[in-house]
Amino acid sequence: MQVLLVEDNVPLAQAIVRALRAAGFSVNHVDRGDTALGVLRSNAPDIMILDLGLPDIDGLEVLRSARRQRFSNPVLILTARDKTPDKVAGLDSGADDYLAKPFEMSELLARLRALERRLGSVKSKNIEIGPVSLDTHSLEVTVAGEAITMSRREYMLLKALMESTNKVQTRDMLDSKLYGWGEEVSSNTVEVHIHNLRKKLPADFIQTVRGVGYVIRKGPLEP
Ligand code: CA
Repeated sequence: MQVLLVEDNVPLAQAIVRALRAAGFSVNHVDRGDTALGVLRSNAPDIMILDLGLPDIDGLEVLRSARRQRFSNPVLILTARDKTPDKVAGLDSGADDYLAKPFEMSELLARLRALERRLGSVKSKNIEIGPVSLDTHSLEVTVAGEAITMSRREYMLLKALMESTNKVQTRDMLDSKLYGWGEEVSSNTVEVHIHNLRKKLPADFIQTVRGVGYVIRKGPLEP
């Protein structure tokens, strides 16, 4: 799940980025409205978190432009403007949810999960394939009921593969889920994480499609 955070308050943005990444979201942060609109054109996120008081374009105008650009994914407005007419204007401009500052990080995460569910990319809290179970809320992974520990990036990689069983994920697709856009990715990072993941998972759970990428097939342990 890729989130675009548009927020010019740097300490707040850093805190949000940390919390979202810890919760398994892939986050890209920009601090200006025009940069945000550029990102929406080139690499549309699954969810946008949008501050209204931006240094260049007002957030509501960013939102209206985004909708005119046919960006149709959920937008959560984050702002210190908490008067009812502001909320109405935000929702009328095409926002899906509205959270007034100051807020608790746990509430932001809960609202993002609700938007994620509405987006339909997470059909259930648990993804189970063969003996492997991944809980998208607790971030716990079990193999035959035994909890296994993994790094955040291993978890995100496994989640991306388990969410799209039988569909080959190319290295580029996995790279873009692991990192925010613009972050440098060393060329063999996905291979390294896959290598480490495989040691924790049943043999052949993650299959290599030579020269293309990786896939998890439904019922990989059945003949
Ligand atoms: Ca602001």
